[in-house]
Amino acid sequence: MPVSLTDTRSAELYRRALELLPGGVNSPVRAMRAIGRDPIFVERGAGAELFDVDGNRFIDYVCSWGPLIHGHAHPRVLAAVIAAAERGTSFGAPTTGEVDLAAEVSRRMESVDMLRMTSSGTEATMTAVRLARAATGRERIIKFAGAYHGHVDGLLAQAGSGLATQALPSSPGVPATAAAATTIVPWNDPDALLGATESGEPLAAILAEPFPANMGLVPPREGFLELLRARADATGALLVLDEVISGFRVARGGAQELTGVQADLTVMGKVIGGGLPAGAVGGRSELMRMLAPAGEVYQAGTLSGNPLAVAAGLATLALLDDAAYLRLASFTDDLAAGLREAAGDRAVQVVSAPGLLTVFFSETPVNDLAGAEACDREAYAMWCRELLSRGVYAPASQFEAWFPSLAHTPEQLDLTVSAAAAAFAELT
Ligand SMILES: *Cc1c(COP(=O)(O)O)cnc(C)c1O
Repeated sequence: MPVSLTDTRSAELYRRALELLPGGVNSPVRAMRAIGRDPIFVERGAGAELFDVDGNRFIDYVCSWGPLIHGHAHPRVLAAVIAAAERGTSFGAPTTGEVDLAAEVSRRMESVDMLRMTSSGTEATMTAVRLARAATGRERIIKFAGAYHGHVDGLLAQAGSGLATQALPSSPGVPATAAAATTIVPWNDPDALLGATESGEPLAAILAEPFPANMGLVPPREGFLELLRARADATGALLVLDEVISGFRVARGGAQELTGVQADLTVMGKVIGGGLPAGAVGGRSELMRMLAPAGEVYQAGTLSGNPLAVAAGLATLALLDDAAYLRLASFTDDLAAGLREAAGDRAVQVVSAPGLLTVFFSETPVNDLAGAEACDREAYAMWCRELLSRGVYAPASQFEAWFPSLAHTPEQLDLTVSAAAAAFAELT
C-alpha cells in the first residue's frame, strides 16, 4: 500500500500546520525530516496498528516513543481513564491513585521508597538534578554523549573535542553557564569516566540512561554500569539513572532489576503514564524528603499526579506481570532474529533488549555516539521510507529505538519481516 507524498490529506494538513506550528509539529522527530519525507498525520490507533488520515494502515513500532507498552487504546487502560475522567479530570489536591501508584513503583524498584510525580520526563530529570545538587551541595554533573534526558537547559549539552569534556550548549538559547556545569563523557568508555571523576570540580551526580536508547539502542558493556555505581560512591556523587524508557519495559523493575545496579535517584516517564502525560523521580526516603513541602528543595506542578495519567499508569502496570515481560522479551528476540535474517549479508547491526530494538546501518558493532553517528543514515532513511510504504511504521531516525509492544502479534511480526526484506532489497 504505497504512501503517496503529495495530494494526500496528510500533505494538506501539513501545509496548514506549517503556518500554525513551528515545523508543522509539536515535537521535532514527528516531522520525519531525518528520513527526508513529510509527516504522517494520525487518525487513530488500535492495538499495534496505526491508521493515518488517508486511510493507510501501519504496524506501529513507535508506539508514541515508548509509553504504549500495551499498544493503542488497550481496553483496560481506556476503561481506567474513562472512569477517572468521569470523577473529574484534575483537582490540585491529593487522590488515592497517586498513593497506589507510588506503592506499586516502590514494590517494583528496590531503590525507590518514595516518588514525586511530574507531567513529563523532562521535568523529572530537572527535579532529579536539582535534588542531587541540593543533597551534595555541589553543582557539576556528568552525562554521557548521546544520552537524552529531556530538553533541560544544562542537559542540552554536547561534548567539545577530547575524551571527557566540559559541555557546550547544543541549542541556541541554552546559556553557556547552564552547560558549563555539565561534563560530557563518551558512553561505554571506562577510561574517560575515570578521567572525568578523578579530577575537576566536585560532582553532584552521574546521570545515565542505563540502556541508552536515544542514539539508537546502545546497551552498557559488561561492567560499565557497575563502574558508574563505584565512581559515584568513590566521589560522593549520586547515581541518577534515567529509566524514562527502560523503566517497566526491560524488566518489571526496569534496568536496575535487569542489571542489579541500583540508583540513588531514578527518573521515570513514558510507561508510568500509560500514554498520558506523566513522569516521576524516586529514591530513598531521606533524599526524597528533601523535596518541598517535606524539605526545602522546591518542586511543584499544577497537573502533577493528574488523576487520568495516574489511572492510565496504574492500569498499564497492573497488566505488566512476569508473563507479560517474558512475552515482550520473546517477541523482541523474534523480531530481532527476523530482521537479521531479512538483512542477509548487508552491513547492519540489529541490537535489542526486551521491548527495545535498533537496526544500525553499520559494519561494526555500535558502542557509543561516535559509532551511531558513523552509521549510513542515508541508507536508514531510504529503508525506513520503504518500510512505511509497505505498512511498517518504524522510527523516522537512525537514532531512535523501535518499541515492540505486547499488542504486536506473530502475524504482524511475519508481515514486518517480509516488508523489511523487501525494503532491504530496494537498497542497492
Ligand atoms: C523521552 C525521554 C525523556 C523526556 O521525557 P519527556 O516526557 O519527553 O519530557 C527523558 N529521558 C529519556 C531517557 C527519554 O527517552
